[in-house]
Amino acid sequence: MSERVIPLVDQRLAALSAAVPGTPVPATGTLLDRMHRPLRDLRISVTDRCNFRCSYCMPKEVFDKDYPYLPHAALLSFEEITRVARIFVAHGVHKLRLTGGEPLLRKNLEILVAQLAELRTVDGKPLDLTLTTNGSLLARKARALKEAGLQRVTVSLDGLDDAVFRSMNDVDFPVAQVLDGIAAAQAAGLGPVKVNMVVKRGTNEHEILPMARHFKGSGIALRFIEYMDVGATNGWRMDEVLPSAEVRRVIASAFPLVPLDHSAQGETAERWAYADGSGEVGFISSVTQAFCGDCNRARLSTEGKLYLCLFASNGYDLRELVRGGASDEEIGSAIAHIWQGRADRYSQLRGTLPAAAESGRKRVEMSYIGG
Ligand code: SAM
Ligand code: SF4
Ligand code: SF4
Repeated sequence: MSERVIPLVDQRLAALSAAVPGTPVPATGTLLDRMHRPLRDLRISVTDRCNFRCSYCMPKEVFDKDYPYLPHAALLSFEEITRVARIFVAHGVHKLRLTGGEPLLRKNLEILVAQLAELRTVDGKPLDLTLTTNGSLLARKARALKEAGLQRVTVSLDGLDDAVFRSMNDVDFPVAQVLDGIAAAQAAGLGPVKVNMVVKRGTNEHEILPMARHFKGSGIALRFIEYMDVGATNGWRMDEVLPSAEVRRVIASAFPLVPLDHSAQGETAERWAYADGSGEVGFISSVTQAFCGDCNRARLSTEGKLYLCLFASNGYDLRELVRGGASDEEIGSAIAHIWQGRADRYSQLRGTLPAAAESGRKRVEMSYIGG
């Protein structure tokens, strides 16, 4: 086997300045990028730390005790996050997803949830407010999150077999506690709960059918995610990607499936229903079937940088504006200007980009900007 070279780069330092344009750009509730994609979905990372070390995301060799996590003062405060989110909402965002790192590690997260739950879309509706978690702390926190106004959760779970799960999270965390977390989320009314499984060939494909069987008929939608080449530390290789079409074939061999329509524009998952009416599964195929054409997602890093794509190298420093005394209008104009210039579509271009340029290109880590 060839040796993997894992570059150690700190992309967080490479910030782009978020310039306030000379001519203000008023918030109209619709902001289009260069490919006419509206801004609708904001993913907010609330911490760059995690209690798991999934090898596809935060491999232990890199994210060890000497890793330079951000100091607390660098993180946006809850008030700063809420202010920035409000400005995004005025530009048409109607879905907020809290993520990380592991978002439930951020102390008193329910206070942030309560603040965000107060926001209203431009047409006066509550936002779709959700959170992605590894589920390890969910049993303890589900009720408080629900009471604070969180609507739904997505839990990441890569297998049911305890040994497989412990080895994938690489901190020996037992699967039973995540299953307790999922049950607590359902009991608290944080539904419909979704479960995301990253499938890595040679690691957990034998967990596909047990996972499908377990969640079928439970009211939980299981979604299979193709292992992606995000970041620069996971040693990604194409031969470890199991294409969604193959995953679907495995499931359909045991449980016949029928295709469903996409539920919303910008929806990342291709949805299929069990033919017997016992629920649905989804496939997120960023590698084999790019969905950049209607990508309406922006990402706000833990320290307030705006990223226009999961595979971006640099983010725009909104914190500089927030802490530098800029008005809401100025920050809103800067965001508008940045989004209007957006042409990112990495997944569509994957494979067509010059290998030399790509191999040297820095890429932000998923644990820093969230999924
Ligand atoms: N810690 C939380 C969790 O695991 O749900 C939230 C952050 S995590 C970065 C968000 C999602 O990204 C998870 O569902 C995780 O499985 C997914 N993810 C991380 N690295 C990935 C990779 N290389 N390919 C595909 N999905 C990945
Ligand atoms: Fe942590 Fe989530 Fe990344 Fe796993 S996928 S290491 S749980 S941030
Ligand atoms: Fe959106 Fe970038 Fe993913 Fe394409 S590659 S769907 S533009 S985040």
